[in-house]
Amino acid sequence: MSFFNFHHHNIQEKNGIYNVDFQDVYLGNTFSIGLHPKDITKHWKDNFEIIKNNSLLPNCLAIGECGLDKRLIANLDLQTKVFREHIFWANEIQKPIIIHCVRSYSELFSLKKEAAVPMIIHGFNKNIQLASDCISKGFYLSFGKATLLTLSLQNTLKELPLDKIFLETDTSDFEIEELYQKVAQLKNISLKNLELQLLENLQTIINK
Ligand SMILES: [Zn+2]
Repeated sequence: MSFFNFHHHNIQEKNGIYNVDFQDVYLGNTFSIGLHPKDITKHWKDNFEIIKNNSLLPNCLAIGECGLDKRLIANLDLQTKVFREHIFWANEIQKPIIIHCVRSYSELFSLKKEAAVPMIIHGFNKNIQLASDCISKGFYLSFGKATLLTLSLQNTLKELPLDKIFLETDTSDFEIEELYQKVAQLKNISLKNLELQLLENLQTIINK
């Protein structure tokens, strides 16, 4: 059985959303495309035109990953400008946005109102207060490998509604099934029901 992998960078993975590097022309399985804040250069406008064109393909399920990251050199004003371009474009083509957010939650929260499509924060690994805050503001959260290793994150997941989460490997090399097993155990449901619920979540965000 293969489980849906919400966000990954592995071209071999067949069941999930492959995060395409903006310069790849990728016509295979379902994918997302966007300009990661680390890839913002002075040529970002040209890169964004490529993103726009490729995002129109029917197998492009989402815009991203894109967002804000205070660890990076690109200044936050520029990151915000580029991120907002992604939001406007996603609104226009009605596709959800996969978000990379590092130490920028308050800035992200204030941009949320500009999005008319679902926003999913990927690689979420923060505490229950922030998780609940995100969900009450309408975000979805996607969890990755840290969930297998961190007890506090497991406790966070226990408290969250199943219809607001996704599971992903991101760049880590491990079997997504391991994560499904862990979360099924934490939520005290069967693996099959977890799988079905997350597929339903996917339908919800791509039909909105
Ligand atoms: Zn990623």
